[in-house]
Amino acid sequence: MTRIIHGIDVGGTKIELVSHDEDLTPLHRRRIDTPTQGIQEFIEAVVGLVEEADDCVGAATAVGVGIPGFVDPRTGCHVSANIPALRGHRVARMLQASLKQPVNVANDCHCFALSEANGGAAARFDSMFGLVIGTGAAGGYCVNGRLLKGRNGALGETGHTPISAAVLQGHGLPIFECACGQRGCLERYVSGSGLRAIYTHLSDSQLDGQGIMALACAGDSAARQALAVHLDILASSLASLVLHLDPGAIVLGGGLSKLSHLYEELPEQVTRHLVRGLISPPILPPAFGDAGGTRGAAVLALSLLRAEDARAC
Ligand SMILES: [Zn+2]
Repeated sequence: MTRIIHGIDVGGTKIELVSHDEDLTPLHRRRIDTPTQGIQEFIEAVVGLVEEADDCVGAATAVGVGIPGFVDPRTGCHVSANIPALRGHRVARMLQASLKQPVNVANDCHCFALSEANGGAAARFDSMFGLVIGTGAAGGYCVNGRLLKGRNGALGETGHTPISAAVLQGHGLPIFECACGQRGCLERYVSGSGLRAIYTHLSDSQLDGQGIMALACAGDSAARQALAVHLDILASSLASLVLHLDPGAIVLGGGLSKLSHLYEELPEQVTRHLVRGLISPPILPPAFGDAGGTRGAAVLALSLLRAEDARAC
């Protein structure tokens, strides 16, 4: 008999739970608003979601939770920019103490990468990097389907790597300040708000990503240039990523992963930024789209079951 696992994706505005069987087939789905009052309300909301799902599809044997931000390795406390209620709390430990099941907690972009590495777009590759470009820009690196987190648990925080000054100067762009305390971070240029900032810098007017795409398709020169600059900065950064990690494939996620020109043009542009003789890995759209967060959290939960099975043998 298959065991049930719950994958929970925590976002700034919504928390979604999807129950899965061991083949990662979705069985039950529920979405609620993210509580804004404080940590206790957050823990109670997650416990309520799990209990409701247990009643619907049977008690889960493990729970995986994907949360934006990361854990400070010195204090064990959560560091999250977009969910203030969690900041400074030992969220993983509190969830473990409140739920009946074993819990595995990871960064939400790590969950996205796990999902695409396990039965997703990069399933046939030994290694992959999943990069989520939406509100921010961050990802995760998987080898043989397993996530590598690094010493600080921050492997994949690609959005806070600096862009080459030569690339920014080449496009006449200023060095933007970043909320992380650094300057010239990738996230400030390639995320949704980054694309808008590039367009505003070039045109002196404000437009969202879809508006920029629509104008570019209609032949507007500032919109086309904004997309070309965005593409070049992303390509330059992915070339650095290739030199550091050399993944077998890169899978894009998040709102900007819907821009189809990225898959047509990025590989050639990444290769152009690489040392001569090296080539870009395949750059692929996600197999699971917005479901990647909960599915990746379920993969996290599944890893707990597999570890338990291995110990029992
Ligand atoms: Zn930064």
